[in-house]
Amino acid sequence: MLGLMQSQPLLISSLISFAERHHGDGEIVSRRVEGDIHRYTYRDLARRSRQLANALDGLGLQFSDRVASLAWNGYRHMEMYFGVSGSGRVLHTINPRLHPDQIAWIVNHAEDQVLCFDMTFLPLVQAVHAKCPTVKKWVALCDSDKLPADSGIPGLTSYEDWIGGASAEYQWPTFDENSASSMCYTSGTTGNPKAALYSHRSTTLHAYAAALPDVMNLSARDAVLPVVPMFHVNAWGIPYSAALTGCKVVFPGPALDGKSVHDLIEAEGVTFAAGVPTVWQMLLNHVKSAGLKFSTLRRTVIGGSACPPAMITAFQDEYGVSVLHAWGMTEMSPLGTLCTLKNKHLQMGKDEQMHILQKQGRAIYGVDMKIVGADGKEQPWDGKTYGDLLVRGPWILDTYYKGESPLIRDEQGRGWFPTGDVATIDPDGFMQITDRSKDVIKSGGEWISSIDIENIAMAHPAVAMAACIGMPHPKWDERPIVVVALRPGAQVTREELLKFYEGKTAKWQIPDDVVFVDAIPLGATGKMLKTRLREQLAGYQLPGL
Ligand code: ADP
Repeated sequence: MLGLMQSQPLLISSLISFAERHHGDGEIVSRRVEGDIHRYTYRDLARRSRQLANALDGLGLQFSDRVASLAWNGYRHMEMYFGVSGSGRVLHTINPRLHPDQIAWIVNHAEDQVLCFDMTFLPLVQAVHAKCPTVKKWVALCDSDKLPADSGIPGLTSYEDWIGGASAEYQWPTFDENSASSMCYTSGTTGNPKAALYSHRSTTLHAYAAALPDVMNLSARDAVLPVVPMFHVNAWGIPYSAALTGCKVVFPGPALDGKSVHDLIEAEGVTFAAGVPTVWQMLLNHVKSAGLKFSTLRRTVIGGSACPPAMITAFQDEYGVSVLHAWGMTEMSPLGTLCTLKNKHLQMGKDEQMHILQKQGRAIYGVDMKIVGADGKEQPWDGKTYGDLLVRGPWILDTYYKGESPLIRDEQGRGWFPTGDVATIDPDGFMQITDRSKDVIKSGGEWISSIDIENIAMAHPAVAMAACIGMPHPKWDERPIVVVALRPGAQVTREELLKFYEGKTAKWQIPDDVVFVDAIPLGATGKMLKTRLREQLAGYQLPGL
């Protein structure tokens, strides 16, 4: 017997329609590429998203055709989130930090028909447009008077001219909720990038989940600053969850330095912010050196790579801002786990709580996870046993776009996505990442967690960034070394840093050496690129060998 409730597909257009009707005057504030501040409301966002949908119809775009963006976080990009997906097309957000050849490759692979870009990326578009034959319309996300006279890009139109003439009357179409809505390519540090193709259903369910109290806890009383880019995994789904809750949204545009971010937080009364550790490091450095405070910021979600405990403590103890450590990936829309305490932890001392809060956290309803050993057998949740982390759920990838399914089948035939992360899970379900499986260090048959070793170095006041990598050793197979970039003007010697490890980790886990570098190479999503670091250290020899 079927239930007798109404059946409505979960569509992204329903989010913007809801926001318009129930939070019409809710504010959306953007720092623009031009440097000024733009502000409007959900009502304006909905109207212009409909104009965009009409403009796409005007081009003759079909259902599921791809429309690409190369853009910072801002209101026009958000209009694309709703106008493109809402009208049944697929929004392809491109990471502008990828190599131009890779950008041309993914535009061709996705068969993008329209590409809208912020003026920052004009030189990039000038370099690649001739290699992108599928694109029939190039649009500059700028006012008409900002359009360059001679860009060399055929038919280049300003976004305002393009949608300005289109009607704001538009009936969002109804279709299967499993239809594709947007896509995001992984950074592809090895081989060509692969795309996760999200659906209306996966995106809407993820938007509900992201807003839950033990996840981002978003509400109509919040002012949310997504520093995490809209070009990478949909800014962790925040634009959708924002429309669902009606929170005020504050977009930083291209200005991601500590001062610009802090100014915006204070000027707009931001209560909640989201970003990767490297961005928060810049913010903390600025706030500390300028002797500033946060007057409205209460919570920040930090993820994308391990959040050093020193950062959690700095935010919490010095500025009264709680840090929510999050873990996820492109293939997971991206949220998988978030670290919030349970009721039984509230009576614990601060150190014990901190021990939990530095973990990547508990699974969100909708994400099932397990760790398995080399034989594929599930490992115990004892907080000590490591295993490869596998996940499944309605917003987790099944098959790559035009690619293969990476899923591993269990005895019941259910498919699990292998995350490529190695983790432990404790009896309370708190998951902790030890390493990417390709970065695991094995010394004398025992694993050393590079994240643990990096976190200790990051707690030293002179250290700005630390990367731990394994180096070949004739007796132990591998031994860890720590590669360190210092804060400007700060100093620490090799011996002092190695001494700093004493008492903080087992003796055999202390790195064999410290290598100082000016900067640690970062990938397109702001994560440390250990592959490049290993190349840079090609001729390196462990001391005493
Ligand atoms: P890519 O950078 O290739 O696009 P993602 O952005 O999807 O990939 O990154 C996913 C990976 O980032 C995870 O599998 C994990 O290794 C790492 N990661 C994400 N969040 C965290 C975290 N909080 N702690 C440690 N590692 C993390």
